[in-house]
Amino acid sequence: MNNQVLKLIFSLPVVLLLLYLFPVLGVFFAIGHLFYHKKAYYYLPRLFLSIGIILCLPKILEIVSQKFSFTIASLSELLEMPIYSQMYSYGKLLVILGVISLVLSELFNVLARLGRNSLIDYIKGQEMETAKLTAKNDLKMKEKIEKSKNSHVVICPYCGADNLIYTTTGTCKYCRKKISL
Ligand SMILES: [Zn+2]
Repeated sequence: MNNQVLKLIFSLPVVLLLLYLFPVLGVFFAIGHLFYHKKAYYYLPRLFLSIGIILCLPKILEIVSQKFSFTIASLSELLEMPIYSQMYSYGKLLVILGVISLVLSELFNVLARLGRNSLIDYIKGQEMETAKLTAKNDLKMKEKIEKSKNSHVVICPYCGADNLIYTTTGTCKYCRKKISL
């Protein structure tokens, strides 16, 4: 199926409508929405929470007004409307979904960050190892070059063999006698 069509099928209005009419199906569509909309991990939990809290607000106000014994005009009328009890259950569902998805998305965020950091640390460690090895090899190479600059070929006066010596004196490789420049 075309990605654009899937985007429309799992769009936000469809998700919200299904959550109202068939909550279980709505949850599946909400998960589908995460797959087809970028950044949904960020905005979907917050949207659910915001709408849920707004829908629950009259009920919350009623509880607060009872506790502090004051009355809000026409609040009880609104609360007694049959449509409001439906809206209230819908609001509660959205708050619950919002909290759960917010916790999950934060958890995934932390895990992803930890994973990324340890990967970066690993790569840095590898680069450092390589750099150390290169420096070591460079030093060895420099030592070799320095050594070869100071080397001289000396013919052993005792056995006539060619010897490479690095200072002014050395030992013949073949007869073990002292030789010098
Ligand atoms: Zn010799």
